[in-house]
Amino acid sequence: MSERIGVLGGTFDPVHNGHLVVAAEVRHALGLDRVLMLVAGDPWQKRGRVVASAADRLALVATAVADVEGLEPSAVEVEREGPTVTADSLEALSAPGRELLLILGADAVANMGTWRRLDDTRGLATIVVVERAGDLDVDPPGDGWRVHHVRVPRIDVSSTECRERLTTGRPVDGLVPESVIAEIRRRGLYAPPR
Ligand code: ATP
Ligand code: MG
Repeated sequence: MSERIGVLGGTFDPVHNGHLVVAAEVRHALGLDRVLMLVAGDPWQKRGRVVASAADRLALVATAVADVEGLEPSAVEVEREGPTVTADSLEALSAPGRELLLILGADAVANMGTWRRLDDTRGLATIVVVERAGDLDVDPPGDGWRVHHVRVPRIDVSSTECRERLTTGRPVDGLVPESVIAEIRRRGLYAPPR
């Protein structure tokens, strides 16, 4: 394979330092050429709980990775109609001589049984399970997966917590990159009700 590309899918509502730690650490640990931050267009499992538009979430990710070597935003899912299906996105990103490595947190791996086109996913990507201290070892359901396990530093933050903080006027400094905080304010996202 001439090119190895990591793919970190997420809603990124908003992107935070936990996401960036994972992408950068996996890229380094596995010597990947690039890691794509794949922004979910229509995350059907979170319907009704997604706050910012796909365009805004993509712009925040682009801001977050602008200064980080080897990390890039991907608009593949945002540009496609309909619900987000990982296998569809991997197909769109596939190319001859390119190995795709799908990066998943332990929580996401535990949820794989619910995925549409799960069996097709197996042939499209190697799975990278990121483990934070205290996580149990998890593997994708069924046999025949190519899997790597990578330990990453634990940053105890979620997008849900960031949104709650922002809408209640508490700080997200240290949890979200400064440039992203500025972009959130510029776009008027997650603002306290007034
Ligand atoms: P939510 O609060 O809505 O669940 P989130 O913070 O988990 O949001 P997602 O966009 O759902 O953000 O996450 C994308 C991916 O990043 C998932 O695979 C998730 O496991 C992983 N992830 C999220 N937060 C962290 C974190 N703090 N450390 C490591 N991985 C994380
Ligand atoms: Mg989550």
